[in-house]
Amino acid sequence: MAVVDFERAPFLVIWEVTRACALACVHCRADAVARRDPRELTTEEGFRLVDQVCSFGAPPPLLVLTGGDPMWRKDLAELVGYATAAGLTVALTPSGTAMVTRKRLEELKAAGLSRVAVSLDGPDPESHDAFRRVKGSYANTLKIIESVIDLGLPLQVNSTVSRRTLPRLREMAARVGEFPLTLWAVFFLVQTGRGASLEQITAAECEQVLGFLDDLSRRVPFGIKTTEAPHYRRLQSEREQAGAPRGPVLGRRQLRAPRAVNDGNGFVFVDHVGNVCPSGFLPMARGNVREGRLVETYRDDLVFRQLRDPDALGGRCGRCEFRASCGGSRSRAFAATGDPFAEDPLCAYEPGREIRPVAAGAPPAPARSAPLSSRPT
Ligand code: SF4
Repeated sequence: MAVVDFERAPFLVIWEVTRACALACVHCRADAVARRDPRELTTEEGFRLVDQVCSFGAPPPLLVLTGGDPMWRKDLAELVGYATAAGLTVALTPSGTAMVTRKRLEELKAAGLSRVAVSLDGPDPESHDAFRRVKGSYANTLKIIESVIDLGLPLQVNSTVSRRTLPRLREMAARVGEFPLTLWAVFFLVQTGRGASLEQITAAECEQVLGFLDDLSRRVPFGIKTTEAPHYRRLQSEREQAGAPRGPVLGRRQLRAPRAVNDGNGFVFVDHVGNVCPSGFLPMARGNVREGRLVETYRDDLVFRQLRDPDALGGRCGRCEFRASCGGSRSRAFAATGDPFAEDPLCAYEPGREIRPVAAGAPPAPARSAPLSSRPT
């Protein structure tokens, strides 16, 4: 794989093609609603966005079409086809609703779609539907998974870690392991949008979850990645330095970043009206693709440049030996303090401490949480 210089180009471009969605998920950063915004980028503007993504040069970034629910756009196959023909690899994150039919997936595959990522936030219908706040979402998600597998498209499952989902994490790992997955993407809550009302786990619990995921990655045939928890890399480095006995990572790694991707650093987000932000969880608009300046914004904007500078970080992240390879979640720092360069409060690491093996095994059994299915929604 060619090396990507994150100063010049992101590894991932995420485009929120719409904010419309029929679900009302408790953690939704987008505060998605069941109607489209008339200000969304048009099909033609979408094509021009794809042209700008291509302007980053080779190797081209991966393009992820997200929402809201991207299935609300009737021109989705056209957008996928245009991007694929331009040389981009395109992935899709549809919501778990009946809008995702086998026929539409077939059209998208024919247009060149490379991967489908669905969200599963509970190991059974009760827990998942309570999180998504729509009955039947679990059943719809399983139908989508079935079609994706049947069509031979690579499958990714996204799951959220929060106080609410933590008690079922081990069951979730077993459930996703029943599918022929390419990647399990585990998202660590950022308290923004509707997610602001969800309770966060503690930094100590996060450390145990990261240890659990690292152990799991050596036993399962799929890749595991964390989103908004770059300290996963720090934990893996610590374990290596401590000489803890570890097997090889078994999971397939297609479409994986060559090194840690962080907000604005290997990663750029374009919202539904074209605003260019370092992440969907870090809503600092630094430009707009309607001005045709996606590449310049990513490369030259002051905030983007500072987000790629480990010496711009504050607090523990600023003093940390791992700041270049980790850097902490900038989105979480912003959500917690209003300062995107503050320390990541979900990291338990104390810079300069003696490197020692990190306790691992099972995710923690939280004392305060009842099972999700018994909690009010
Ligand atoms: S202190 Fe910050 S940079 Fe260091 S490991 Fe934790 S999150 Fe990463």
